Amino acid sequence: MLSSARRTKDQRADVIVVGSGLAGLSAAHRIAEAGLSVAVLEASGRPGGRMVTDQVDGFLLDRSGRLLTTGSMELTRHAGLSSLVLRPFSAGVLVRSGGRSRRMPELRSTRGALTTVRALAHAARAPRSDALDQARLTAALNRLAGTPTGRTLARPERSAAEALSSRGLPARTVDGFLRPLLAALLGDPELTTSSHCADLALRGYARGRLCLPAGGASALPDLLAAALPPDTVCTGVRAVSAATTSVTTADHGVLGCRAVVVATDARSASELLPGLRVPDFHPATVLHHTAEAAPTEEPALFLDADRRGPVSHTAVVSATDPSRTPPGRPLITSTVLGPVSAEPIGVLDKAARRQLAELYGTCTEDWELIGAHHDPEAVPAMPAPHDFQRPVRLLSGLYVCGDHRDTSSVEGALISGRRAADALLGDFGLAAAPSAPAAAAA
Ligand SMILES: Cc1cc2nc3c(=O)[nH]c(=O)nc-3n(C[C@H](O)[C@H](O)[C@H](O)COP(=O)(O)OP(=O)(O)OC[C@H]3O[C@@H](n4cnc5c(N)ncnc54)[C@H](O)[C@@H]3O)c2cc1C
Repeated sequence: MLSSARRTKDQRADVIVVGSGLAGLSAAHRIAEAGLSVAVLEASGRPGGRMVTDQVDGFLLDRSGRLLTTGSMELTRHAGLSSLVLRPFSAGVLVRSGGRSRRMPELRSTRGALTTVRALAHAARAPRSDALDQARLTAALNRLAGTPTGRTLARPERSAAEALSSRGLPARTVDGFLRPLLAALLGDPELTTSSHCADLALRGYARGRLCLPAGGASALPDLLAAALPPDTVCTGVRAVSAATTSVTTADHGVLGCRAVVVATDARSASELLPGLRVPDFHPATVLHHTAEAAPTEEPALFLDADRRGPVSHTAVVSATDPSRTPPGRPLITSTVLGPVSAEPIGVLDKAARRQLAELYGTCTEDWELIGAHHDPEAVPAMPAPHDFQRPVRLLSGLYVCGDHRDTSSVEGALISGRRAADALLGDFGLAAAPSAPAAAAA
């Protein structure tokens, strides 16, 4: 890719984007669509940032335990992601709580919404208290699914944990489902996240289905990068400073341009743009196991409300997305959140196996650990009050984007890239292209 860095130097690009995560690629895509030439500088050896998938012995192993929802408009309407295939967890969410496993309600779409009456009918065979809990939860999720963003954001803002305990739902529902679900969606086991962010995450769950990108997390950056003109992304090029009309790199000199978009993670952005605040972060570790036989064929997400070990959520990923494994080999991916995720991998693996044996009801001693990845800064923290639209235009010619500008998520990164591109195009007097139709949910 060095040649493309040289090309950037020789043929000055209109815009330089620093960082090829989802935010940077999304911004580059929109800027290129408007007719400007773009160069994307990436410090590491491959594009994608935190959305990286490693290939190990025929397995596709995500470095993050990615959970997306089919209800995400930004994801499904992005022009560069029109051929993205999403694989839903079609068997829904199974929660282990009080030593029992329960299937939790999914609403899927407003049209196919599970009504309170249907929820009661569904749960008729369950103990009476379970049936009522499920019906109340379904009603609450239905209400949330139909609540416009403005009304959600007009509610008092506090921590998600505080908000959950004041919503009038039984403790069994809060502790036995909503807490573990939100921990998984937000990457925050203590639920210190703003209640506004938590409500929007729950609304996304209520409006769509949890899903995985077919072929691994890197499918998203790969599609975005492929939609850019050839040689737009220059890997192995680290920026050390950024100004309105140039980027200085560690090994490739000073690259001139007409505008710069800094699209790195929050910490690197604050180094390139002194004055930007560095947020706190939630750490995470992902463990990938294979086994002789799959512990279940259910394409479901398993949550452990009993917290009997370090794993927050786990899934037989190969049941949801068979393209990630060699034929006949199961892939079980489990995510550890919070400070415990910093324990040595060997320690986590041992504790996780004990927990997973109970969760899946099978022996895990013979399971093989085929991959593990720890990220101490996996997700920027979003405590209350959270600003959903931090400024992306610093000066005419200098812009910043990344999940730290919107919400700490795939969707937040994509939105921030779009906002930064639109601010830049506005300064150039150019119009942005409209969005594309929704992606397929297979
Ligand atoms: C373990 C884990 C689990 C997660 N789970 C979920 C989830 O379930 N759902 C969800 O929506 N989100 C989840 N996320 C968050 C999501 O992955 C991120 O919010 C999103 O990918 C961030 O994209 P970005 O473009 O803002 O930043 P990044 O992906 O961090 O991209 C920034 C890029 O900038 C490059 N860079 C940095 N400094 C320089 C420099 N000086 N010069 C050149 N390049 C530079 C980096 O190498 C990187 O490629 C998770 C993240 C992790 C790690």
